[in-house]
Amino acid sequence: MKQNLKPIPVTQPWTTEFWKAAKDGKLMVQHCRACGANIFFPKKVCPECWSDDLGWIQSCGRAKVYTYSVMMDMVEPKFMGDLPYVLAMVDLEEGIRMTTRIVNCNPQDIAIDMPVAVVFEDISPEFALPVFQPADESLRLQAPDEAPQATGQDAPTGLRPENYQTILYETGGENGAVCTITLNRPEKYNAINQRMALELVDAFRRVREIPTVGVVVLTGAGKAFCTGGDLEVFPSLAEHTSSLNWLAHEGLDVQRAIAGCEKVVIGKINGHCLAGGLELALACDLLYATESARLGTTEINMGVLPGWGGTARLPRSMPVFRAREIVFSGRKDYTAKEMYDMGLLTRVFADDGFESGFAAVVKNIASKKPVALRMGKEVMARSVDGCDLETALAVERNGIQWLTYAPDIQALLEQFRASPDQLTRTQKQSNLQSDRKG
Ligand SMILES: [Zn+2]
Repeated sequence: MKQNLKPIPVTQPWTTEFWKAAKDGKLMVQHCRACGANIFFPKKVCPECWSDDLGWIQSCGRAKVYTYSVMMDMVEPKFMGDLPYVLAMVDLEEGIRMTTRIVNCNPQDIAIDMPVAVVFEDISPEFALPVFQPADESLRLQAPDEAPQATGQDAPTGLRPENYQTILYETGGENGAVCTITLNRPEKYNAINQRMALELVDAFRRVREIPTVGVVVLTGAGKAFCTGGDLEVFPSLAEHTSSLNWLAHEGLDVQRAIAGCEKVVIGKINGHCLAGGLELALACDLLYATESARLGTTEINMGVLPGWGGTARLPRSMPVFRAREIVFSGRKDYTAKEMYDMGLLTRVFADDGFESGFAAVVKNIASKKPVALRMGKEVMARSVDGCDLETALAVERNGIQWLTYAPDIQALLEQFRASPDQLTRTQKQSNLQSDRKG
């Protein structure tokens, strides 16, 4: 269980009782018999009157949110798997304020003064942490008797790679560093239906839990990469609302899952890449195409527009005058070379060299530390999103500092320090110091 990797509480004689009670599902508050103060966190003497005549009362477990913060990123690596999570200070009815986490609800449902109730999260055979969930059961994600076990293993949809019907999901490569996700409806040119959308979201969420994976390859089976939304989902007028919902939510969720995936996602454009298929590609980090691939956005031919991020991501991928042509022309015959010249693709390979050339690219990138690849993706995403240069530089500096303290990067730096043949010791030290400074 990966939770075992997290720090566990260090007990003191005066906190043992607190942790023992927490494991039994009780929140105990220290109470000063001399002055009547309630005390949190447990102390050796009363911080109000310095008396050591201290006992315990059991808290009713009800509290209100005093303040909170949603952690989206840049946390201690051991907690990365928990993101996003909510740190909070809550005011217990016993008159004390404690730092805790709020669990079992959507972060956007949390508000200042919201009533919350204690619940205990097992973190080891000896310890359970008191955390809080909304008192209002309708705001909870799970029934109250199901503990908030945020293992993140199985999505509520019940989807798993073994029962995917429309995609293939395989991990491999050296040290298991590559996950390949293949759109697998070749008879439909890998058009995306609702099932495929759900499976893609599930697959991209799942792969982020695998620490060995640094690179995800997204590709299509057969002759196409992807030709966009399956036109069968475009419906009779009666189904107008449900199809709008599908467009607005599920389709968009897919490209968000790709762009937000903490791995480097490499699009392997092996054939037709059109409409929503091009928009999937746009959400990738790197794009390699075979010469005979054909690309374009065709939505305007049906009187609509790219709706899965195309109008937003195309102008961010190339000069806007070229992006406009792609959207307005509705052409589906842009060659890979044309798209490369316009600025879209990372590289184009001749058809007969595509497989070997692509494999070499993946092998090289997959040999890098997953955590460094991830941080590179994060800091460049912030920078491309259009913050000013100084902010982008600060994000970069923070990213590097964070990396140099990550355990496996420390190990790598340690090797580097220890190897005598690379640099003299003083050079190595000064390099390290300048890395830390930024
Ligand atoms: Zn006291």
